Amino acid sequence: MMSVTRESASQPAITAAAARRLEFADSIFTHAGQTRLSMRVPDIRCAACSLKIERQLSNMPDVARVATNLADKRVVVDFSAGDAFSFVDAVEKLGFTPLPDRANLAQAALHEERKSMLARLGVAGIGMMQVMMFALAGYVAGPVGIEPAYEGLMRWASLAVATPIAIYSAMPFHQGAWRDLRNRHPGMDVPISLAILAAYGLSLVNTVWLDGAVYYDSVSMFAFLLLIGRYVELGSRQKYQVSQNLNDHLLPASVQIFDPQERNPTYVLVKAVPVGARLMIGPDQVIPVDGMVLRGQTSVNESAFTGESLPVSKKAGMTVLAGSMNIEGEIWVECTAPYEEFVLTRISALFRESGLYKPRFSQLADRIAGVFVVFILFATAACGLYWYAAGSAQWFSIALAVLVVSCPCALSLATPVAYTVAVSALRNYGVVVRNGAFLERLAESGDIIFDKTGTLTTGKLHIGRIQLLVPDLDEARVLAVAAALERGCLHPIARAFARAVELQALAVVSTAGEGVSGLVEGVQYQLGKAEFACGKPLAAPPETGMWVLLAAAEPLAWVQLIDEPRPESGRVVASLQGLGFVLSLLTGDAEAEAQRIARLMAISDVSAGVTPADKVAAVQRRQADGRRVVMVGDGINDAAAMASAHASIAVSPADVVVQEAADATLLTNSLTSLPTLIVFARQVRRVIRQNVSWAIVYNLSVIPLAMAGLLQPWMAALGMSVSSLLVVFNANRLRKVQD
Ligand code: ADP
Ligand code: MG
Repeated sequence: MMSVTRESASQPAITAAAARRLEFADSIFTHAGQTRLSMRVPDIRCAACSLKIERQLSNMPDVARVATNLADKRVVVDFSAGDAFSFVDAVEKLGFTPLPDRANLAQAALHEERKSMLARLGVAGIGMMQVMMFALAGYVAGPVGIEPAYEGLMRWASLAVATPIAIYSAMPFHQGAWRDLRNRHPGMDVPISLAILAAYGLSLVNTVWLDGAVYYDSVSMFAFLLLIGRYVELGSRQKYQVSQNLNDHLLPASVQIFDPQERNPTYVLVKAVPVGARLMIGPDQVIPVDGMVLRGQTSVNESAFTGESLPVSKKAGMTVLAGSMNIEGEIWVECTAPYEEFVLTRISALFRESGLYKPRFSQLADRIAGVFVVFILFATAACGLYWYAAGSAQWFSIALAVLVVSCPCALSLATPVAYTVAVSALRNYGVVVRNGAFLERLAESGDIIFDKTGTLTTGKLHIGRIQLLVPDLDEARVLAVAAALERGCLHPIARAFARAVELQALAVVSTAGEGVSGLVEGVQYQLGKAEFACGKPLAAPPETGMWVLLAAAEPLAWVQLIDEPRPESGRVVASLQGLGFVLSLLTGDAEAEAQRIARLMAISDVSAGVTPADKVAAVQRRQADGRRVVMVGDGINDAAAMASAHASIAVSPADVVVQEAADATLLTNSLTSLPTLIVFARQVRRVIRQNVSWAIVYNLSVIPLAMAGLLQPWMAALGMSVSSLLVVFNANRLRKVQD
């Protein structure tokens, strides 16, 4: 920030419009021919607002996608041509204030909003108590009434107290309503604002003429309760935002780095730490980069990634992640990745992506709510007219009660609140949800397909026996060639061969689900499945384990790789079967090893020797039969199948590509979170359904009562607010994932 000011001081003055463009510069990203503008619109209040923005922007030329997130008030536009700033302008023209999508700005805006909301709430709360006391005197006096002079006095006093409530406290509702009316797209704020203004206006007139009823108590109570609802909602949104910007919350802004001799410390921004830089991290300090421990020994808390708060011990050669906490010793760490590639950065990005999604259910609710508001206004007018024509002195208070009671506030909150709470809870549990549709889809699935290596097994392979097939070759040579070929490959097999590489491999090609090939000392080698390595099937030695073949022009050696099932796999498989899932195992490995693992797990449906394309076909075949399939895997060879499955889960994947293909990633490195996740997804679905049905039943049952004149306006205000709060509290049951 400071350097920007200094620079601009020495430059010629720029226009305000140009300055504004500059502000948005880092909210625009271009990737693969698509440009994405991401902005914050803090004054998005409700589903109607976001629908309005979405409609407006998606009708503009070259727009591929518009998504809004009600929870953090973000609008994202993907477009292929044109000027990003035209979208900012368009949103502004609708009467909103778009801001660049920067974490600190959004945080500050939210903080401001909370502060001002608290002030409005305070005014409304104190005022409400006063007005209620005055009103109570009237009620206590009963039908005889109190002496007119006193009554007049009390009305004037109530007016004095209710005025700041109706104007200052309720201002957010009036502003929202005004904007809605200007855009001819009535949202929830319209009936609310109308109710407050009408009740206040009529009371004012009646106070001046000392005639007819006053509704100051209803006005204050209505405003107060609604503000409480908004305040609570704001709180859950703030928590959600923290999860989205883990980097800003967990990492320091700048760090001290050292030269290779570990002298001469300099300060740099954490975003600019170069790969290879050395850092010293003392006890109780946050590790600010992804890196490798050079020296020292300590234990760290990696709960930001795994949800597991037990310390993990680290010594030289082990990797550490930015955002974990160094607990005990002093360690030297070498940074191994740039900021954009920190695991933490990627998790935040995935999390932000997930927030752009709106469940089908809530899209429907949004649309209903939009139509509903128009209906309410007509119903209110008709009802008022009817009672007026019928000669009732209560016509206004009846109409007011109808107006207030029929606000579908609870309905429009029902899904987004539950969803926001649930995704944050999962994040804390160690599951990152990338695709928002995931929870909904997981809850309705019935089949699970597992990958074997690295998913049901630990994937921590080690080399067993080596069987030489030609005379002039030794084991060391086989391992050296294999290590050279596998270098840089992310498959668990490659990790088993990893060691100091003495040989160089050139033109290395790794084929998912098959193996790797390359030139070593001028000879073309293949390592992997027999069909891949030497072009024809070849029987592997009879012992258990995964056998891979090393071949040049002819088969050279079999290498046995020993893998073990994850200790928790059996239990997890049993509990998934208990939940009613049909399970299958799909693996690229050979029949014998696939059968052995499947027997240990008690999975009867096994297909071995399948290619990545076969995995896709297997998913699609089941889906053609109307089954909904969850694909659980860990490798690139599963990515395509994951993309075509109904829902997909990556188990601590080594590769970013896999994490990006999967709807969700288990960072816990344990399959036990799988049944927990499924139970939780079903619980989320249940809570959302409860919320929506409660909101609909509530609205449908109280509207007739209000129309019949059986509800006082203050009762309506109470009912509406309590029903919204119930929805919020019900959603808060999802705050923690129960194991
Ligand atoms: P899974 O489906 O069990 O995860 P993969 O599809 O990843 O297994 O691999 C299937 C088979 O392909 C392995 O059993 C191995 O024979 C061969 N293979 C795959 N990748 C490699 C590799 N990097 N090096 C050697 N062999 C490989
Ligand atoms: Mg695998």
